[in-house]
Amino acid sequence: MPEITVISGKGGTGKTTVTAAFVHLAGNAVLCDLDVDAPDLPLILRPTREVAVDFRAGHVAVIDPSRCNACGFCMDICRFGAIVAADGEYAVNPLACEGCKACVALCPAGAIDFPVRRCGRRYRSQTRFGPLIHAQLFPGAENSGLLVSELRREARELAVTTGRKIILSDGAPGIGCPVISSLTGTQLAVLVTEPTPSGRHDLERVAELTARFEVPAAVILNKADLGGPAAGAVREACAARGLPIIAEIPYDPGVTAAMVAGQTVTEAGIEAVAAPLRAAWSAILELTAARRAA
Ligand code: SF4
Ligand code: SF4
Repeated sequence: MPEITVISGKGGTGKTTVTAAFVHLAGNAVLCDLDVDAPDLPLILRPTREVAVDFRAGHVAVIDPSRCNACGFCMDICRFGAIVAADGEYAVNPLACEGCKACVALCPAGAIDFPVRRCGRRYRSQTRFGPLIHAQLFPGAENSGLLVSELRREARELAVTTGRKIILSDGAPGIGCPVISSLTGTQLAVLVTEPTPSGRHDLERVAELTARFEVPAAVILNKADLGGPAAGAVREACAARGLPIIAEIPYDPGVTAAMVAGQTVTEAGIEAVAAPLRAAWSAILELTAARRAA
């Protein structure tokens, strides 16, 4: 089952715009938004939610006031400053609790519970292009890498049960744990960048990551006509790493209008942008086929 993940070294490069166009062009894909901190794909695809489940990971301490004798010992032993006291009552700040369980084990009154932490929500939705797997991590919640892994597993299962032939994912920005979870085992990473010094720098970082995990990669240079010398520097960096540039997309103000209207750029018929993206999608299919044949 080919899995293609679109990533970028940072946010704001047009990653979701590109992914949404590929979603339209793919036709028979299971769609996945792996940016669990700030999922943008649903803003364009406007999905209808069919299934929603809690994402639970780790534990958090919770003081039961009916059992607490207000001795203050837990506050002394918590190394993370997660226990707070007000008016003689003790409580745990869940955003500061690291789940080390020390207070639970040492509370002399046995007053601290240790339930599983609710970190976010996972969704299975339907869009006009097919099923979408996505999630939203709660503010301050952790374990985004684990959540990304769960989304990918669900997408694979859904692809098998629905007979869809490809999994197309909008990855998380950056190079952290959720991006690594997005990448491992995929057939192709599509790296979206922009022609600026920071764009080139972030492209180099994410290219390093794909190389380390032995994931084949190809580059899309967005707003290529605005960069001048910086665009040349991105091309040189790609050539030095042997990374193919499969599309150079010009800046077009119609892209923003299409996104606001909930349309992909290929649906909206913005040809200056849509034509290179169609060529890029053909190149992606060829690269993944070659990878599978190898
Ligand atoms: S150690 Fe236990 S009994 Fe003492 S303040 Fe903390 S929760 Fe309450
Ligand atoms: S579980 Fe650990 S981090 Fe959380 S409140 Fe207790 S001692 Fe602090």
